[in-house]
Amino acid sequence: MGGRDATMVLLDENGIRCDGRKVDEPRRIMIKAGGLKNADGSAYIEFGDNKILVGVFGPRDVHPKHMSNTDTGILRVRYHMEPFSVGERKNPAPSRREIEISKVIKEALEPAVMLDKFPRTAVDVFIEVLQADGGTRCAALSAASVALADAGIPMRDMVAAIAAGKVADTIVLDVNNEEDQAGQADMPIGYMPNLEKITLLQLDGVLTPEEYKKCVQVGVDGCKIVYDIQKKALQDKYFGNGGD
Ligand code: ADP
Repeated sequence: MGGRDATMVLLDENGIRCDGRKVDEPRRIMIKAGGLKNADGSAYIEFGDNKILVGVFGPRDVHPKHMSNTDTGILRVRYHMEPFSVGERKNPAPSRREIEISKVIKEALEPAVMLDKFPRTAVDVFIEVLQADGGTRCAALSAASVALADAGIPMRDMVAAIAAGKVADTIVLDVNNEEDQAGQADMPIGYMPNLEKITLLQLDGVLTPEEYKKCVQVGVDGCKIVYDIQKKALQDKYFGNGGD
């Protein structure tokens, strides 16, 4: 939030947003499963103007060894933005924001991954944001789920993610970068549709209790749209013509 641009029309009189979408319309989403030869599993996502590549490695030995757990496997996630991924060059060193998002995505994936099946091992998830345009944590989380499935890691469900939010006093699906900067609230949600469980919920901004409930509902409905695209990506690779 913040950085409000008073001149921008976020929602016009016909209910159309600054990028031409309706209030309940997500940006264009394209997911491709696989693609990285040296990874055990991988996925590439375009989510509006976000472009993100995810590589999964493991289950494999843990180094340093003292980090391993004799009862369960561990999940490690690194979210990283390329210096060229945003308008002004980003310092390549890990920022506080990247450390936070890595942790948030790890915790959102953990309920989905059956780590207890691989004691003493680690599954590593590397997320490279090539181009960022608001909503990278959700796009990265959705792609990471596909990459884990592509790696053959046993999962209870895939986590699908998208943000809902409040723009011009209206609850909208999939907040873009301009709306995030100038809007009133941004609520990234990660959801496992088969298990009907939320694994990520953050809120930046202020909502009334009614708006909060509506935002969660709009976000969960949006996750179901993302989920269908995730499943299609895996089907295309394993049963269709997109295999590599
Ligand atoms: P998310 O990408 O999950 O929405 P944030 O709300 O923290 O996470 O960031 C919103 C957007 O701000 C990002 O998607 C990106 O487009 C932009 N952004 C983030 N970090 C930087 C940065 N260091 N420089 C320029 N833009 C950035």
